[in-house]
Amino acid sequence: MPSTFPMRRLFLKCSLGLWISEACAKTITTQSGSKWQLSPQLVAQGASKKYRVKVGELQQAYLLDTDVQLTERLQRIMAKLANQAAIDYRGSGHWQWEIHSSDQHDESSYSMAGGKIMISKPQVNALALNETELAMLIAHEMAHSLLLHNFAEDQEALRLFPAWLNQDFEEFETAIDDDDTLVTALAALGKQQEFEADLGGMELALKAGYPAKNLMTFFEKLKKRSAYPNFESRSHPAPAERLQRLRDWFQQQAQKNNLHQ
Ligand SMILES: [Zn+2]
Repeated sequence: MPSTFPMRRLFLKCSLGLWISEACAKTITTQSGSKWQLSPQLVAQGASKKYRVKVGELQQAYLLDTDVQLTERLQRIMAKLANQAAIDYRGSGHWQWEIHSSDQHDESSYSMAGGKIMISKPQVNALALNETELAMLIAHEMAHSLLLHNFAEDQEALRLFPAWLNQDFEEFETAIDDDDTLVTALAALGKQQEFEADLGGMELALKAGYPAKNLMTFFEKLKKRSAYPNFESRSHPAPAERLQRLRDWFQQQAQKNNLHQ
């Protein structure tokens, strides 16, 4: 999440209710002669493969789940958030959520299809995240999957560059993360998705019972720790703007509540 790693894929089945059928309705129409058709299932398969490879590589390098206590905390928090997600996002109750921590220094936390999450231990340590702040980080990553962000990203890429349908799907997936033209074209959407994941994650964590004040300190820490809090990166909005948007949202909620009293 907070910095640059864009690899998050999502996993869905088309038969899991309205929330998902809306996504499936957006499935790209295959061009005649193309090798594949974008669907949530296809995205899921690709994500699952990539996650397994990544987990294997980290394990071989002794960089996976090196802190037993952290692994237990991650699993406990994710289970609590996943219970809430199953209520708020119909169909996600079937997902095989999975979470690990990585000691790799050059990658931030990220999530992939169907809730395959990787949490950066260096990031957790650098921000000295307490239980609730860690829940905010995990909820943000879960929201990316729950809000179908990778599917949306793939759809936009194919809308802009339909010729990718004539390449192998695996090549397309790699390009989404690595190809300069695609990465640049999708940057604005990616930043919008970060705001959405902040808000979606915040709502999920609040409903799961975490206190708002402590959830917000996660974003305060992000801003404080950033060398350039008012500037966006290639993949993420400015930390100061993320914090401000959430503060604005809380203010709107408070105003709504006052109106209803
Ligand atoms: Zn994110």
